[in-house]
Amino acid sequence: MLTVFLPPRFFEERRYAWFILLQHLLGIDLRFERGENDVTVLSWDTGTLDFQDQFFNRFEEPLGYCTQSALPAEIDYWVFGNKQVPVLYGKAGWSDHRCLADFAASSFFMLTRWEEQIVQAQDSHNRFKGKHSVAFKHGFLDQPVVHDYADIIGDMLHDKGFVWTRPQRQFSWSISHDLDIPYKWSSVKRLGVSLGGDILKRKSLPEARRTLMSFYNTRLKGNPDPFDNYDKLMDWSESLHTRSTFNIMAASPSKMDEGYNLEDPNIQRIFKRIKDRGHYFGFHPGYGTVTNPAEWKRQHQYLESVLNQRITTGRQHFLCGHPPDLWQLWADMGMTIDSTGGYADVEGFRFGMCVRFPVFNVKTRQPLPLLELPLIFMEVTVAEYQAYSPQQFLARLSHLCETVKEKNGEMTVLWHNHCMQTAFWKPYQDLVISL
Ligand SMILES: [Zn+2]
Repeated sequence: MLTVFLPPRFFEERRYAWFILLQHLLGIDLRFERGENDVTVLSWDTGTLDFQDQFFNRFEEPLGYCTQSALPAEIDYWVFGNKQVPVLYGKAGWSDHRCLADFAASSFFMLTRWEEQIVQAQDSHNRFKGKHSVAFKHGFLDQPVVHDYADIIGDMLHDKGFVWTRPQRQFSWSISHDLDIPYKWSSVKRLGVSLGGDILKRKSLPEARRTLMSFYNTRLKGNPDPFDNYDKLMDWSESLHTRSTFNIMAASPSKMDEGYNLEDPNIQRIFKRIKDRGHYFGFHPGYGTVTNPAEWKRQHQYLESVLNQRITTGRQHFLCGHPPDLWQLWADMGMTIDSTGGYADVEGFRFGMCVRFPVFNVKTRQPLPLLELPLIFMEVTVAEYQAYSPQQFLARLSHLCETVKEKNGEMTVLWHNHCMQTAFWKPYQDLVISL
């Protein structure tokens, strides 16, 4: 048991950050007390460890830090093994036996993403652009830095003689598939749209011919639909000793939502195959639901009624929404895990984390009964937004996967059923499925 004496100002924020570092990641039992103004003290029966405040005391409660000028400016680096770990607030080092790195404020910055409240960098879907984040600009979006902070503090405690048993986490894959478009040839209208794209946009008669053949083979000859890749996806997960989560939509048709009918016998057959193989269902709320709780709830209730089971995990369509409003909505709706948290435009560790973690609402200043399972790698991000070749794609996936393995974390990836088999996606699919 460790007692953590915290400065009185921003007590809840500090308590949350230290809880994640010491208890959630290092597995140390904690007790929190109010202490002195400018120092956090970790105390146990035979020793103490002091951390100088470098952030919160500069601001007024409740949200005085939520300003442009409070963003990390001069980043220092803590040399840890063969790594340079960015210290976002304070300095890498010691003075008068106090650590000058403010790991709590640095972690709080990454975990709560208050940066995304104040930096104006939204795309056309009102999503924060990852390439505008401090982490990307300073080159550490590829590093699960909050884990690094915890490991540094763990080593300090160990050197000072504090004894505890670290939790035995195991590396795992977390593979999910957002079901945006269950079938390619669900209607003749879709054929018209595809042909229009082939002829007017791509100006390719051979493509148009292939499209017609594909439609003919599926609808008239009874061949599998090109987007019917559910068994392949489940094979892939099983080969990695895990089960997939299929996030299902329940939106009505609109410009951004396919609006498939959950009671259609073809869709019901997909559900049965997923269920029969022991894979999982999650919820994929439609476009615009982050600001429309009533519609969010209607879709969720409809999905649960069709599947006849509770659904408490999932991800927003288009990765829309930001903390903390998104998290508050999901918690209010009784969800337990959100996995929206990745950037659409760039892969990596948006929260500096590679395991699921309890979240904190900076507006209400309270933890929420919801876990974020950070999305690390979405195929569309890497192949389309980043425009990487299949070889570069595989190199990025392997690099991030190795990084997660070092932390015994959860490698969360998103692969859509419609991003397979086509001329564009097949080379990516072949490389990844051979992992
Ligand atoms: Zn989607």
